[in-house]
Amino acid sequence: MPRFAYHQFLYGSDNYGVLVHDPETQLTAAIDAGDHSAYQQALDEKGWQLSHIFITHHHGDHTEGLEALATSTGAHVYGPSGDNPGHVHIMTQLSEGDEIAFAGEQIKVLHTPGHTLDMLNFYLPTESVCFTGDTLFSLGCGRVFEGDFNMMWHSLSKLMALPSDTIIYSSHEYTEANAKFALSVDPDNQMLKDRAAEVASKRAQGQPTVPSLLSEEMATNPFLRASDSGMRAYLGMAEATDAEVFAEVRTRKDNF
Ligand code: ZN
Ligand code: FE
Repeated sequence: MPRFAYHQFLYGSDNYGVLVHDPETQLTAAIDAGDHSAYQQALDEKGWQLSHIFITHHHGDHTEGLEALATSTGAHVYGPSGDNPGHVHIMTQLSEGDEIAFAGEQIKVLHTPGHTLDMLNFYLPTESVCFTGDTLFSLGCGRVFEGDFNMMWHSLSKLMALPSDTIIYSSHEYTEANAKFALSVDPDNQMLKDRAAEVASKRAQGQPTVPSLLSEEMATNPFLRASDSGMRAYLGMAEATDAEVFAEVRTRKDNF
């Protein structure tokens, strides 16, 4: 049974921030800190005091407000290890397999490099929630900047191994564009067609398409469907490895 409250808000052009609040202890965690005033406004709106900040990766749209937010709230900052300039304000450095207690519940740290080498995702088993940063998006995945396709496929495979009812909070509202691309590589997937229509109507009403369920992503997100025989047949890759199919789909997206 979930016990936390979640507040998702937009900042920048298409970034999502999330606050996780425990009504019992009054502890509140922020996922990333890309914009100090947007996070502060979200906290004020809810009347929550920030106690924890969890950073997914060093990119500016996830870290630019960190120093100011940590200073103004006194929150403890957890995030990736390394000597990147984006890591300066991280107090507790985390890596794969680390476990943190938040309000008495466990947060498991998953290292999912590919988009960046430092990328961390945060999984809350008792809540069935995973914060996937710029690794896994609704109907998409992050562009591979610092790693390689094999590394990204391995990282996505870690997320695919989570329970299918896991709620996926990703960091950007990219879903409508992702749906257009997804249909170009998996055009016969009826669940994808239905989801693309649903996404278009939600966006037309200004509604978010994040979070989503891992089970929906497994059925419709082409970056998780390297083993799907229909998509493989369409791509002419029936004999390829899953990593090769993923690399082909990611390359096509880069050029879409
Ligand atoms: Zn990023
Ligand atoms: Fe980002």
